[in-house]
Amino acid sequence: MSPAFRHALTRHPLSIATVSLAGTLQEKLEAAANIGFDGVEIFENDLLTFDGTPEDVRRMCDDLGLNIDIFQPFRDFEAMPEPFRSRNLDRAERKFDVMQALGTDLVLVCTTTHPAAIDDTERAIADFREMAERAARRGLRIGVEGLAWSRFNNRWRQVWDIVQRVDHPNCGLIVDSFHTLSLGDDPSGIARIPGEKLFYVQLADAPKLSMDVLSWSRHFRNFPGQGQLDCAGFVRAVLDSGYGGPLSLEIFNDDFRATQARLTARDGLRSLVFVQSQIGELDLPAPPVFDGVEFLEFACDPTTRDALGNTLTTMGFRRIGEHRSKDVTLYRQGRIHMVLNAEQDSSASEHFLLHGPSVCAIALRVDSAARALARARALLCPDWQERIGEGERRIPAVRAPDGTLIYLVEPNAEGRSIFEDDFILSDTGGESLLGDVDHVAQALPTGRMDSYVLFYRSIFGFTAQPTFELPDPYGLIRSRAMLSVDATVRLPLNISESRETATGRFVSAFAGAGVHHMAFSTTDIYAAVAEMRAKGARFLPIPANYYDDIAARHGLDDAEIAKLQALDLLYDRDDKGVFIHAFTETFEDRFFFEVVQRDGYDGFGAPNASVRMAVQAQRREAAKLGARLVL
Ligand code: MG
Repeated sequence: MSPAFRHALTRHPLSIATVSLAGTLQEKLEAAANIGFDGVEIFENDLLTFDGTPEDVRRMCDDLGLNIDIFQPFRDFEAMPEPFRSRNLDRAERKFDVMQALGTDLVLVCTTTHPAAIDDTERAIADFREMAERAARRGLRIGVEGLAWSRFNNRWRQVWDIVQRVDHPNCGLIVDSFHTLSLGDDPSGIARIPGEKLFYVQLADAPKLSMDVLSWSRHFRNFPGQGQLDCAGFVRAVLDSGYGGPLSLEIFNDDFRATQARLTARDGLRSLVFVQSQIGELDLPAPPVFDGVEFLEFACDPTTRDALGNTLTTMGFRRIGEHRSKDVTLYRQGRIHMVLNAEQDSSASEHFLLHGPSVCAIALRVDSAARALARARALLCPDWQERIGEGERRIPAVRAPDGTLIYLVEPNAEGRSIFEDDFILSDTGGESLLGDVDHVAQALPTGRMDSYVLFYRSIFGFTAQPTFELPDPYGLIRSRAMLSVDATVRLPLNISESRETATGRFVSAFAGAGVHHMAFSTTDIYAAVAEMRAKGARFLPIPANYYDDIAARHGLDDAEIAKLQALDLLYDRDDKGVFIHAFTETFEDRFFFEVVQRDGYDGFGAPNASVRMAVQAQRREAAKLGARLVL
């Protein structure tokens, strides 16, 4: 999206602190400018490590069209005994020199954490007044921010009280959503501060964690909409004050430091558009209303197309169509459609070359594709169009952060399915063992969970479920499901720090993220799995010890256990209902299918995930050993 388009969307200048982005200072500035930020906060450490003068930084920003809003941070200034006090004033003068060279008039001064600082508000006020007076002589301003872990003044009300008593036009208040919301402080009173005394506003979200606030802030901040703090309520209060300055992102996050600056910058701008839409400050098209998954498309070559077709047939799918102009085959069962794409020189064949046999597109049913696309574009997600043949219907699509296509299929006015346009159909009818797609689980590259959460939350209006930690034999998997409003679309997202877990292997061996399993619903899992096994479907064998454990844990009787065990079914129960499921063997070491029956239960069988992953790991090892013996 061009910056010009973005400016049409927002009345407020949008900025980002250089500390939020990875790379060299040049890379950070270019990433911020390219995506369309108006300004940056120059973080002192980025300047100290820059091989050039502050004037060079100013020129770089001028060339990129970026404003330098602020220089930060200035720490441990106020209420110090001599000789620190005099030294601090000298230090301020030197930083004022730097600011003038940078061409910015504002410095962020955060309240003190220094062990020698004196608990004396009058001293603090006098010091800030002296600093403001010195800044004023040079046409500069100071903004005071209350650090959540500062020794004496960690709440915005305390700092606002000090700023009022400093009573100097060149001294104002800076508020930061993390410092306010991490302490559980109420931001609503910020609305009553005169807007011109709010000198700057910084935004950061965070997951709710129980740890000391300094470590929390330094490592786990993220963009508004990625965490659990009420950033929207905070922005509402700030704008109600009449504040007209930048909304700026200041994020300290270990994952962001390891991610390409351009990706992070796009997420950042997306978060600022999203947070403004949440409070009605920006008017975006409403998120789509979803009605489940229309189809899953697999990138294949002719060999894997046939093998996958056989696997689907054992699961009760029927081959019902051939594409009119491409090497694409359609399988169906119930409401589930599987598209096997082996067309040469297509985006599917590119996907196959890069990732092997894999899901290259997910099609979701939406009420209005046009509105969904308009919202996606407003949130910096470009749409994507596949080349189409004569008479074929063009299906609108957006790209997920990993490049997977997400098609948006809306009901046709004449009631025709999208398959009638593009395929020669030959459904022979017959019973269905499976009804619908229950969930589609993806493996994410390390450090990218927040990015995906923001994508699905902002563009599709999904909600993020709590994070589960699932023990794999070779490391820990973190899993978080994104759900559409009515839960017709469920997308568990899995991420692993270890390359040795099933998720980690998947991401490293197959060049990036992707779908690693798909679950289908049934209303009678005993009949469905028995029939599939009779057709030759191969399910993951579950160890006998598992059944001893669930018998004791859930109080199941011998007959129930025997029924489950006979078919290698897994069982879970919570206060809402029962979940019974089974996993197929992995297809070409790539992905697998799951059959599920939910009776009121709305989780994903998390307690059984470690059993599944342990069996899969054993079978991978056995397969490797088998391969060696054959060789
Ligand atoms: Mg801050």
